[in-house]
Amino acid sequence: MITGIHHVTALASDPQTNIDFYVGVLGLKLVKTTINYDDPGMYHFYYGDGVGRPGTILTFFPLGGIRRGRIGTGQVVSTALSVPVGSTKHWSERLTEHGVPFDARQTAISLADPDGLALILKEIEGDVRPGDNDAGCVAPEFAIRGIDSVTLQVAEAAPTLELLTERMGFDISQDGDGRFTAASDVSGNAVYLHESEEGDARGLSGPGTVHHVAFRLPSDAEQDKWRDELLALGYHVSPVMDRQYFHSIYYREPGGILFELATDTPGFLADGETVETLGRRLQLPQKLEAKREIIEAHLPKLRIP
Ligand code: ZN
Repeated sequence: MITGIHHVTALASDPQTNIDFYVGVLGLKLVKTTINYDDPGMYHFYYGDGVGRPGTILTFFPLGGIRRGRIGTGQVVSTALSVPVGSTKHWSERLTEHGVPFDARQTAISLADPDGLALILKEIEGDVRPGDNDAGCVAPEFAIRGIDSVTLQVAEAAPTLELLTERMGFDISQDGDGRFTAASDVSGNAVYLHESEEGDARGLSGPGTVHHVAFRLPSDAEQDKWRDELLALGYHVSPVMDRQYFHSIYYREPGGILFELATDTPGFLADGETVETLGRRLQLPQKLEAKREIIEAHLPKLRIP
């Protein structure tokens, strides 16, 4: 069974700017500093709560100074992060202090990260996730609890909706604007679905856009089952990929958005890092450890706030 959102992976430009924003401003913890396994010349950052629990993870590939992408149809168009009830005022002040433009309503704040990625800080009642974070840039009573939801935008809602509800087990509801919510009753489980309107541009991949959204699976056995099922339905599904901290399969939903199903295990301590040292040292997959010196020499130096 899919138990919620595992992580959201997005594209960024400058690595240091990305760290300064997610750690220094949003107060997430950099739980893993590694490289893009498919392109070792590029960092891969994972941010999350104190131990990087599934459902709290945002990950980024900082691509360098290339042109920004465009948010639009065929993409995850926004990602909402859960914050404690009553914390909107604090967050408004904090964003103002850091010079981050935002749009605050009663219980939610819309903002963009330095590359233009659309984020929402949303007060969520009854989110029991601890939001613990020993990095400590944001006081615990205001800290981000994890991902609340993602919003998908597709040209035609029906096929995506069918996949989410009939196959992936989400319940569905529809609001007054005819927009759909696929969710279960646990925080970190909602998928909002928007059908594009005339004139909505197609999304273009690049810094400031989401690359994929990953959903949680409890075990490898469950993942094998899902892979068989999706293949039987005619989806092109990747082989199981070992991402060291979880195992993943990928497929495109009918609207073109890349979905991943990732296991909860083994988690971010799998490489021997401890809760205290998470993210501090560049972690490489075993097969690239011998090339560490060369890889490190080619990556820009980082400063973690
Ligand atoms: Zn992923």
